[in-house]
Amino acid sequence: MNNDTIAAIATAVGEGGIAIIRVSGPDAIAGIGRIFRSKPPLQDADSHTLHYGHIVDPHSGDKIEEVIVTLMRGPRSFTAEDVVEINTHGGVIAVKKVLDAVLQLDGIRIAEPGEFTKRAFLNGRIDLMQAEAVIDLIRSKSDRAFSIARKQAEGTLSKRIKALRQTVIELLAHIEVNIDYPEHDVAEMTARYIREQCGNAIEEIDRLLKTANEGKILREGIMTAIVGRPNVGKSSLMNVLTQENKAIVTDIPGTTRDVIEEYVSLNGIPLKLMDTAGIRETEDVVERIGVERSRNALEEADLVLFVLNYNEPLHEDDRKLMELVEGRPVIVIVNKTDLPGRLDMSEIEERFGKETIVRMSVVAEEGMDRLEEAISRMFFEGELDSGDLTYVSNVRHIALLKQAKQSLLDAIEASDAGIPIDVIQIDVRSAWEALGEITGDTAGDSLIDQIFSQFCLGK
Ligand code: GDP
Ligand code: ZN
Repeated sequence: MNNDTIAAIATAVGEGGIAIIRVSGPDAIAGIGRIFRSKPPLQDADSHTLHYGHIVDPHSGDKIEEVIVTLMRGPRSFTAEDVVEINTHGGVIAVKKVLDAVLQLDGIRIAEPGEFTKRAFLNGRIDLMQAEAVIDLIRSKSDRAFSIARKQAEGTLSKRIKALRQTVIELLAHIEVNIDYPEHDVAEMTARYIREQCGNAIEEIDRLLKTANEGKILREGIMTAIVGRPNVGKSSLMNVLTQENKAIVTDIPGTTRDVIEEYVSLNGIPLKLMDTAGIRETEDVVERIGVERSRNALEEADLVLFVLNYNEPLHEDDRKLMELVEGRPVIVIVNKTDLPGRLDMSEIEERFGKETIVRMSVVAEEGMDRLEEAISRMFFEGELDSGDLTYVSNVRHIALLKQAKQSLLDAIEASDAGIPIDVIQIDVRSAWEALGEITGDTAGDSLIDQIFSQFCLGK
């Protein structure tokens, strides 16, 4: 437990209506009680109650601000310590004055960035993963990213990592018994048990890692390039996508001057549409497609939407583009199905496979749902389940999960090769430690400091 009491402005300072000054630690209640005039006095109040009154100057006793104070006694508070929150009515100057008064009190000092969350972690209120989620919550830019972070903050992901650790610790215990009491038949059973337990753990790690890709996509969007020869309907598709899907249209200055990216949300799936001069608007696409930049755009794309015209036979330029998109994650859009069919579908189906072909009419607004489904299938193996937002999306967690998996694979391999059990134990133990580093159970001080230093003041 910390002996000192910390204070900071917990809300963004600005023109906003209400600002909160958060105070946490053993002197929080008695300290604020000295500068807060209310009935009953704060010291006598029950936990989780609101109090109206005035903050006064600790020396002169003059009223500074009319405030509402929230009292939360530890351990039922965010930091697990006694917490007092002073709600003031906005105004930068008023907030600063109140904070000054608080900081004049003995035993109360200004908090370091992330210190409240760090205390919550050190006091066992939250684990490291949940603390990191607090950073993500502050930074999240889309609703979905926010929901993912909130889910992590609630500890759903932590629970799964902890269950995983439990599997590994059971194995470790079993191995240790074996080292202490080596017997022949037990050794044989142990080899099978190692394979089984490690196998189960690896399966669960794989399930979690799979969500990592989806998590990254939901966070950053699917980089999407729309290609096709002139007049097939690329611009029309782009317009429908950006206009009818309540697009969050943002211009982000890219590395290249004329590359603009637009974000659209296709039924919850964020697409980052790449609109490169070389691909979308140039009317002699094939000639321009040779341009390095266009090639790069195709290389970079997570998804290529390759548009063909249903109303015309396959053109030589279509064939050239086919070659270019070959091997890329591609969805073939056969557009203009409202017009008579002149396109030989069998050739395209043979080349790309039926399931990657979507028939649509942009003008008749037909087939957008099929496009959604195709993208969903491609990136989320079916329906995007909006209920379960448990995603591993933090790079640190992903790296540690991979590390744990490798150690478990090493253990199986060693066991199969008949390597002595005390060597195998080392692999299993390092898997256990890697998993513990995710939740913070085995994380070192420097890592913890580094993580909390990313926070902003007041959190
Ligand atoms: P781009 O050159 O590939 O960007 O093609 P545009 O989007 O500019 O479209 C070329 C022409 O095709 C325009 O006149 C569109 O109105 C028309 N068009 C686009 N999609 C459809 C469609 O689904 N059906 C029909 N009938 N016309 C379409
Ligand atoms: Zn166009």
